[in-house]
Amino acid sequence: MNDSILLTPGPLTTTLRTKQAMLRDWGSWDGDFNGLTARVCKQMVDLIDGEGTYACVPLQGSGTFAVEATMGTLVPRDGKLLVLVNGAYGKRMAQLTKMMGRNCEVLDFGETAPVEPNAVSARLEKQTDITHVGIIYCETSTGILNPVDDIARIVARSGRKLIIDAMSAFGALPLSAKTTPFEAVIASSNKCLEGAPGMGFVLARTVALEESEGRSQSLSLDLHDQWRYMQRTGQWRFTPPTHVVAAFDAALDQYREEGGRIARLARYQNNCSALIAGLERIGLRSFLPAAIQAPIIVTVHAPAHPAWNFADFYQRVKAQGVVLYPGKLTAVETFRVGCIGAIDADQINFAVEAIARALQDMGISK
Ligand SMILES: *Cc1c(COP(=O)(O)O)cnc(C)c1O
Repeated sequence: MNDSILLTPGPLTTTLRTKQAMLRDWGSWDGDFNGLTARVCKQMVDLIDGEGTYACVPLQGSGTFAVEATMGTLVPRDGKLLVLVNGAYGKRMAQLTKMMGRNCEVLDFGETAPVEPNAVSARLEKQTDITHVGIIYCETSTGILNPVDDIARIVARSGRKLIIDAMSAFGALPLSAKTTPFEAVIASSNKCLEGAPGMGFVLARTVALEESEGRSQSLSLDLHDQWRYMQRTGQWRFTPPTHVVAAFDAALDQYREEGGRIARLARYQNNCSALIAGLERIGLRSFLPAAIQAPIIVTVHAPAHPAWNFADFYQRVKAQGVVLYPGKLTAVETFRVGCIGAIDADQINFAVEAIARALQDMGISK
């Protein structure tokens, strides 16, 4: 059976080599497996130029588990988080922070514009009880690219601490601790690094982790405890996602072989341009202006036609081996197509053809 092309980041399309890395069982106490974990973590720290000042704490679960662990561990109980929201993932960050009883406020930019630095600056000046700021690097619900660098400088200048959810950007879009000040960045195995789903990781300032002992209200999501335990034993607290770590390690080998972040970003940019051009050719318009479009996922206007129905469209495209995402905008009818994963412009063009055929079969286009 041929695997479908997953344009649903993520999970996303992985290579055969990455999938094959999961054909082995590992013991969680085993030295070889602990070596694998250590190697993966070191590469994550190197990716942000964080050697010496940042530590990588991996965590079982999907990316949201890692966001929840970060907020519960790094934001003190008497602290206050300001979340910069322009989509579903920002809203989720605020929701989970409030649910664990932390003080949390939102600065909302709607769902069609990037976070605006001057507004952030003004809010931080006015409201002195804010200790931490949360931002989403690429807001995956639309594909908007947020100005993380500008915001990081503003937050640092005002003496606050920045937590970046870079889930869908990490490993492709630039992020260096040498040039961008941040307290922690959160990502996962199954997005731009093209691993299998099942683990997230947090790169946090070592001093921030040291200060956070006993703060978490959750046992399994206590990032400090996970970090300390791993430092002490080389092992994960609780059952590790062994196959996912092995696949991640294999995916990282391929990442290096491809040419690292620069090459990965170039491939995704190429995918994104091919996608937008291909969709335009068949009469579909992307939702975001090019200036704020991250090369990660593209939101597309649904055709304004009485026969349009996403569920029907989805099935017809899927029957041709391509899996898409529904839209996430509240006001406009859209669908989404991912640019990331182990795919290149050939698969993107194949997907565009599948979309064109589906629209013809639905009587929407000729
Ligand atoms: C994927 C993603 C997450 C995590 O989602 P999970 O479904 O929990 O893996 C968080 N933030 C952003 C911006 C994402 O793209």
